[in-house]
Amino acid sequence: MNLFNLRRPQAHLAQPVAEPAPAHESTPEARFCLMPSVERPAQVFVRGQGSWMWDSDSRAYLDFTQGGAVNSLGHSPAVLVKAMTEQAQSLMNPGAGFYNRAMLTLAERLCQSTGSDQVHFLNTGAEANEGAIKLARKWGQLHRNGAHRIITATRSCHGRSFGAMSASGSGTFDNRFEPQLPGFINVPFNDLPALHAAVDAQTVAIMLEPVQSDAGVIPATEHYLKGVERLCRELGILLILDEVQTGMGRCGSLLAEQNYGVRADIVTLGKGLGGGVPLAALLARGKACCLEPGELGGTHHGNALMTAAGVAVLDTILEKDFLAQVRDAGQYLREGLGRLANSYAQGELRGQGLFWGLTLSDDSAEDVVKAALYEGLLITAPQPNCLRFTPALCVSKGNIDEMLLRLARAFARVRTAQLHCRRAVAT
Ligand code: PLP
Repeated sequence: MNLFNLRRPQAHLAQPVAEPAPAHESTPEARFCLMPSVERPAQVFVRGQGSWMWDSDSRAYLDFTQGGAVNSLGHSPAVLVKAMTEQAQSLMNPGAGFYNRAMLTLAERLCQSTGSDQVHFLNTGAEANEGAIKLARKWGQLHRNGAHRIITATRSCHGRSFGAMSASGSGTFDNRFEPQLPGFINVPFNDLPALHAAVDAQTVAIMLEPVQSDAGVIPATEHYLKGVERLCRELGILLILDEVQTGMGRCGSLLAEQNYGVRADIVTLGKGLGGGVPLAALLARGKACCLEPGELGGTHHGNALMTAAGVAVLDTILEKDFLAQVRDAGQYLREGLGRLANSYAQGELRGQGLFWGLTLSDDSAEDVVKAALYEGLLITAPQPNCLRFTPALCVSKGNIDEMLLRLARAFARVRTAQLHCRRAVAT
């Protein structure tokens, strides 16, 4: 099929940003059966392949969000479909209380490739971070007289369960459903003196994202992350890296910590690990391996179907040249976004590998996201003035070129709409 036959007609720049026509398969009322957890556009998506998705009106969309950096190998990659089909046909779920082959294979390969000693599989990033918090508190009980406090960064996002939400930076969520879980303290990101000042006898760990995602794709500086590691070693506390978004090749290496030459005691993975299915992992190294049977558990932990998906994703990422290709495509995306930012007088470009954020000169990111949707391009806005790009790790340069064309049209559309608004106000 020629994907470009499904391309939309060129947008008229004079047309203001508009919601696309709703494309409903079921009754319009069906959407009201869903709790309004997130705002969704009207499209109903029915099919995906690689970097493309199609809605129920057969319109094609170039996907540079990939479910929020989840579909690491793109939509419905053959390797994942095959692995899951074979696993589903033989054994989906013997139960968390039994070993299964996929769980053991993934555990061994993940520990080996990340230099970890133990792993526990879970379903979501938030759940993996809950596990990291439990692991750190258990370690504090054993080795630091019950110290339990964890220092995290302002504007960090570690997930939406209570422990993960309490760990996340203030200002990250609109409603934190108080009261929060005690035992967390936030300090500014990329600020070593603030961290030094915050540590006390009750501190058991420092927990950070190597690249803050929801804050607007803000990478830690090398000086900072190395300094954090040094501080943890000097004080004998744990370093926890939340690599739920940055891990599994997203930043051009298997783990982002490798880009910094840092080694955490505990690493959490999620999102890209399952390649599109819910799978997360809690990795522990050395002294941090201190859990005993019964202390972590969950009905679907180590589920055979999900871990089979994880094996397929990990094996693909570890194939020769895969990560080099991520870095190469990332560089290409960076250069293209940089050129576009210059033409449209936009702001800073931040990120690593295939994880990029572009700040805008004003708070129009949501408008650009809507205009991009109209142009058949899917991107997200983690902040009112920031766009985020997380394409498939196997995205082609042709798709990057196509994305840049569509994004340029979205910028033009928003700029025209802004001009219309200004004129209307002036008259
Ligand atoms: N940690 C980070 C860095 C994230 O970006 C997210 C989600 O966006 C989470 C944790 C939570 O992951 P999940 O939504 O799978 O619970």
